[in-house]
This record gives sequence, C-alpha cells and structure tokens, in this order.
Amino acid sequence: MNDSLCMPQAGFSCFACCPPIRPAGYEHLADRGSWRRMFAENRADFLAGRLPAKPQTGFFCPGLGFLDKAGRRVGCLLHPAANQGRDLRGPTGYRDKCERESCPESRAYAALPPAEGAALMKLCQGLDPFQFSSSAQNPVRRLLAFGPPVAAAAAGLGLTARDELASWPWLHELDSAHGWLLGRLVKRDGAKLLRRSDLLELLAAETGKLARQMGPSPPLEQGPPLRELCGEWEARFWLALGGRRRARSAELAAWRALTA
Ligand code: SF4
Repeated sequence: MNDSLCMPQAGFSCFACCPPIRPAGYEHLADRGSWRRMFAENRADFLAGRLPAKPQTGFFCPGLGFLDKAGRRVGCLLHPAANQGRDLRGPTGYRDKCERESCPESRAYAALPPAEGAALMKLCQGLDPFQFSSSAQNPVRRLLAFGPPVAAAAAGLGLTARDELASWPWLHELDSAHGWLLGRLVKRDGAKLLRRSDLLELLAAETGKLARQMGPSPPLEQGPPLRELCGEWEARFWLALGGRRRARSAELAAWRALTA
C-alpha cells in the first residue's frame, strides 16, 4: 500500500478538496495569487497562535496554508498529522467533513503496488502544489481517476516523461467512469493498449456493443445497490453505461461475462 496522495513522501501536496465544501471540479489554479496570499497569512496566524475563533461558512478555510517556510507544500495546518496527534480543526466547523473526505484518485493511489505508485510520483516531478492538485495540469491525477488497474498498467509501461502521459488523447476525453471497462480491456490485450491512438474509438465500439447486449434498464431495478456487490469503479461504470444502480448477483455476473 502506498502513502497518501494528499501528502506523498515524494514531497508533493494536494489540496484539491480543501475546504471540503468547494464546488465540484473547482480548480484552485484559477485564483492562484489570492490563494497564495491566503496560505501565507494562514501560516503566519497559525505560527502566532491565532487559531480560528468561529466556524467558517465560505470556501476559505483558515486551516489551509503553507506547511513550510518556502511555500512548497500546502495542506491543513490544524490536522493531527501536523500537530503531534492533536486535532485542532474543530473550530473551523469542517472537521467532520474533512475526516470523511477522500477522492477516487487517492483511493486508487492507495491501492497501487508501491513500485507503481513510486513510478507515478516520479512523473510528477516539478509540479508545485497547485499543479499537483489540478486534474487539468496533472495527468497522473487524471490517470488515477480511471482506477487502480489502468493506473498500474500505465505505470508499468516505464514512461519517463509526464508529457508522454499527457499526450494520450483518451486521458483527457474519456469519462473516467469507463475506467473499469478499460481496465478489463488492458487485462485482456495488455498495457500497450493505452498507447493506441484509436483507443477512444475502440472503447466507444465496446461500450456501444455492451449497451445493446444488455438492453434498456428496467423501470424498477431489483437486487442490492451495486456498491454492495462490486468495487466503486465497476459500480460507476454500470451507472454510466446504462443508469444501473442495483442488480442481483447473477445479473451482475452475466453483465461481466459480456466484457470478458
Ligand atoms: S482531493 Fe484527494 S488527494 Fe487531494 S487532498 Fe483531497 S482527498 Fe487528498
């Protein structure tokens, strides 16, 4: 198991989900200047012992700041990991939300074998916290959204430059909800599939065929929620493909068999 994508040992830091009420898909990069000023002020307040006095209501959290003097890492100044186990997040009003927060990318990274995780972190060299946190600017983050099998396969290709990863059109154009199917195809055809220039067309043909074979979703779905029957990437795929949220075990097995 790898370290945390929020603060990997390789020296990067992510704050894409901080504070945890930001709008989905928000990119801190767009307001870099104001965020940098706020991170410096929050660090100065924290070091001077000025802790937040009341719960926050906006997108700005007084706990989010530069973790080092040089401003190379951004993270939670009030987190127990930064305070010898003491959790100082209470007064912000965000603590419960922060504790629950995790993203598909961080869960995929945690599930990778260490060698693959390290290979991906190597590709992030030179990214500052704003770039590392950005799905638009960090192709590794985008890759992780497709789930552990796809990320591990890409890491195993021995890429030496981030640009090569960023040059794969599917990485930017394909809905990451299709990561589970892509992982199945990679298992069948090998990791070299990820380098194919016609991968988007290939996937469109596969998903079209699959949707036709499965037919329309019934008006009243039977069985337990898919999240209880399979992993999160697979559940996301069936939802994206045909709006399915529930299935009986045998039904799910039959769908899977169509992708073998
Ligand atoms: S967006 Fe994901 S990786 Fe980044 S800080 Fe939040 S949970 Fe961690």
